[in-house]
Order: sequence, then structure tokens, then C-alpha cells
Amino acid sequence: MQQGGWRVVPDQIHGTEGEASVSITKVGIIGAGTMGNGIAQACAVSGLEVVMVDIDEAAIGRGVNAVSGSLDRLVKKEKMTAEQKAAALALIKGSVVQADLKRCDIVIEAATENLDLKLKLLRDVDALVGPEVILASNTSSISITRLAAATRRAERFIGMHFFNPVPMMALVELIRGLQTSDETHRKVEALAKRLGKTPITVKNNPGFVVNRILCPMINEAIFALAEGLATAEDIDAGMKLGCNHPIGPLALADMIGLDTMLAVMEVFYEGFNDPKYRPAPLLKEMVAAGYLGRKTGRGFYAYS
Ligand code: NAD
Repeated sequence: MQQGGWRVVPDQIHGTEGEASVSITKVGIIGAGTMGNGIAQACAVSGLEVVMVDIDEAAIGRGVNAVSGSLDRLVKKEKMTAEQKAAALALIKGSVVQADLKRCDIVIEAATENLDLKLKLLRDVDALVGPEVILASNTSSISITRLAAATRRAERFIGMHFFNPVPMMALVELIRGLQTSDETHRKVEALAKRLGKTPITVKNNPGFVVNRILCPMINEAIFALAEGLATAEDIDAGMKLGCNHPIGPLALADMIGLDTMLAVMEVFYEGFNDPKYRPAPLLKEMVAAGYLGRKTGRGFYAYS
């Protein structure tokens, strides 16, 4: 379905990928939070019907408002018209009833990052939807192979790792669990392209590809700071001016949250059983002190 000719649809889906893409017209999303509502916006703007389910009614209201506000900014920048905004919003149905996911072609799970919660949710949805439906998870750190194994459709299970903020970020990592079929991968790749994203394909492993490279780099910057090699400002300036990074690693750690950074490094350390992923002791100290970055007003920098 095309909304007044404003949808960005890459040419690829009309070629060899087209056949795979036509089967997905209705997307179920579990979780209306930061990622869930961003994914809902990307889908609706691409003309796909969306059912966004959350356990918390207030979260749905906040999620729909976030999409509306984000589309308003696009209208203000003249990237879409008010009519196009209304058409996209009309495609999103919020619900607290899981059974409303029943007639979706794919369900993308973007609920809170908690293994037991995701396992239960996925088992419930697996029992609810038809056997042909693809299940995807937006998890940042949980094994896709493990989540897939909790369902009776492991070959139709895949990781679809969007980046925050979803409407702005072009990348989607597609994570193939050990069981993911080629057909599932092909269909989800076509869907990602239809959303105007650039998919990359990654084998299931801790951190996938982007965080696997990014987080140890940030961790190393924290070691460099702790060893007194340079000031935080100079480390960040070095990586910005010497590597063309848009933001320095320590400022980025403050944005991500130092508790999240520590949790990711611990996942790597345990997942690979390799000391090269040990979290920097200074990172642990900062977290123990409650200096978590921007969200607490203090991290490697002070925020007012
Ligand atoms: P969030 O806290 O903003 O939103 C999570 C939502 O899930 C909440 O609205 C919550 O009410 C809902 N939820 C919890 N249990 C539920 C259930 N049983 N059924 C339905 N909804 C339920 O979290 P987020 O930042 O949007 O993260 C969601 C997922 O995306 C996580 O797996 C996270 O690892 C992943 N992720 C996050 C980012 C990021 O930058 N925030 C980036 C990539 C991936």
C-alpha cells in the first residue's frame, strides 16, 4: 500500500526481492517503548499496517504520542505533508490485547531486555499466531539461537536489531540464529529494505557486529583514561579528529549509560570466556559510585 506517493521504497524490492516482500503487509510489534514506537513509525511511514502491543496502557499512549511528535517534526521540515502524517498515524493501532497480533505477517518483539520476559512472551505469541508467521526480536544482547529454540518455529525466527532513534538510523542488523532459514532471512531482508533501511547480515554471537566492535573500543578508551595516557577531552578529540568519529568514545559512553556499557562488556566477557573483553576497572568504579553518564548528570563529563 502506498500513501500518496511519498513512501521511500528502494528499487530492490521490485526486483528479485519483490516476491519475498509482498507477503508482509501487517506488522505486529511487542513493546511501545523507545524502540517499539520507532519501529512502528518506520513501518507506518512505509505504508504497512501496524499493531503495537504493550502490557502498559500508558506506554501505548506515550508510544503513539512519540510517533505523532516525530512525524510533526518531519511535517515542519517539509519532509511530509500533514495529510501524509495523518495517513501514517492511522495505520498504527495500539493495543493491550496480545491476541490482536493474530493476523500479522510478522511480529517484532521490542519489549524490555529481560531473558525470562522475552522467553515467555515469545512462547505465548508462538502459540497464538499461524505457523507461517515470522517472529523477530530486537534484543541487543540475548542469543537469537536461544530465543528461537523457545518457539516451535525456530527456522522462522530471526534477530532484527534496529538502532536508536529508529526513524533516523539507516542500519538494521539481521541476526541469523543457528536455525534461521534462508527464506526467513530473505523475507526480513526485503522488509528492512522496504522500511528504507540498509540491512547487514550477522551470525548470532554476543553483541552481533556493531556493538562487538564499538563497545570494546569504548572500554579501551576507559583503560586509556585510567592509565593517565590523556585527558577525557583529549581522548575524545583524538578519536573525533583522527578517526572522523562524530562523537568521542567517552562522551558516547556517557550517552549510552555506563551501567549499560558495563552490562554489555560483562555479556562479552562471559559469552566469549575471553579476558580481552574484561570491563575496565574504572568503568566498574564509576557504576558503583552511581556515575552513570548523562542520565545521572555525571559520567566522564559533568552535565547540568
Ligand atoms: P523500553 O523500556 O523503552 O520499552 C520496553 C516496553 O516493553 C515498555 O513499554 C514495556 O511496558 C513493554 N513491555 C514489557 N513487558 C511487556 C510484555 N510482557 N508485553 C508487552 N510489552 C511489554 O525499552 P527499549 O529501549 O525500547 O528496548 C526494547 C528492546 O530493544 C530491548 O530488547 C532492547 O535491548 C532493544 N534495543 C534497545 C535499543 C536502545 O537504544 N534503547 C537499541 C537497540 C535495541
